[in-house]
Amino acid sequence: MEIKITKTTAPKEKPKATELGFGKYFTDHMFLMDYDGEKWEDARIVPFGNLSLHPASTVFHYGAEVFEGMKAYRTPEGRIQLFRPEENARRLNSSAERICLPQVPEEAFLQAVDALVALDADWVPSEPGTSLYIRPFLFGNDPFLGVHTVQKAVFMVICSPVGNYYKEGLAPVSIMIEEEDVRAVRGGTGYTKCGGNYGASFRAGKKAEEKGYSQVLWLDGVERRYIEEVGSMNVMFRIGDEIVTPALTGSILPGITRKSCVELLKSRGYQVSERLLSLEELTNACRTGELKEAWGTGTAAVVSPIGHLVIEDESFTINGNEIGSVTQELYDTLTGIQWGRLEDTFGWTHPVTAE
Ligand SMILES: *Cc1c(COP(=O)(O)O)cnc(C)c1O
Repeated sequence: MEIKITKTTAPKEKPKATELGFGKYFTDHMFLMDYDGEKWEDARIVPFGNLSLHPASTVFHYGAEVFEGMKAYRTPEGRIQLFRPEENARRLNSSAERICLPQVPEEAFLQAVDALVALDADWVPSEPGTSLYIRPFLFGNDPFLGVHTVQKAVFMVICSPVGNYYKEGLAPVSIMIEEEDVRAVRGGTGYTKCGGNYGASFRAGKKAEEKGYSQVLWLDGVERRYIEEVGSMNVMFRIGDEIVTPALTGSILPGITRKSCVELLKSRGYQVSERLLSLEELTNACRTGELKEAWGTGTAAVVSPIGHLVIEDESFTINGNEIGSVTQELYDTLTGIQWGRLEDTFGWTHPVTAE
């Protein structure tokens, strides 16, 4: 694929590492290509800026949008690397297939990300814990309101330098079980990274925040009985000597951090089960003290320890509201590999060479 590059003539000033936060600043360029109903065309990198779209574009009316989230990391030697980017390419296509958006060839996805990160390499920050968040996304833009599957689409990549998620260390969060709303059902779009899933989850997240919790623990949408995810992260529990994470039943997003944690833990001899975990079992494990650790997993935070779990009106403290040893081990190992401080024996990292 040939990418036409138009460089900015007005590079922006880079924000200070302490001001980065998440998703507030964007780099100087963005990638776009168009799908005309049959083929991808006009792959290009242009100065970052607003889009002009027809007001009837499918994306605005029928939720025809899927996205990815990944990061570029600066190593101690100053090199730049991605983490398992081919997994993101594959997942984007799995999401796209579900809502009938066109497939983006994996090669094109990887080339677009590489080229944009290489061009905006100066934007990959180097302070501890900082990174360049990469947001590939794909949306339908047919200019008419008839309900139909998408013909025309756009694939884009934008990048945002982000700060250290844990400025004050890995502080455990409080989580409440959500018993009214569900984010996904089997047969629906739960396993896809689509904007619509987020729309469905906002109300519960808002309610949790108003009650003083960080996020909700989602139950399955059919029986309201099995644990699915925590907020927009996958979730893992250490119950006795077993590490349990909900099986990918169709309503759970197959996280790349989740997959990496499972592979890493298995390689170190932990007993890991991907299985159904009911709320009764989890509640019992809280009561008996068998629940040793709980944490969320995702690209943004890597792992996020859970210190309090509120089930109905009962509040349980996990591991004395301290980060547990397995959570810490996962955090240290994954961040070590991602930022290039530890040897990558799994072959997960992918170098990007600056322009
Ligand atoms: C993106 C996402 C995750 C985490 O996936 P990673 O690939 O680990 O970043 C988990 N749950 C939901 C709902 C997500 O959208």
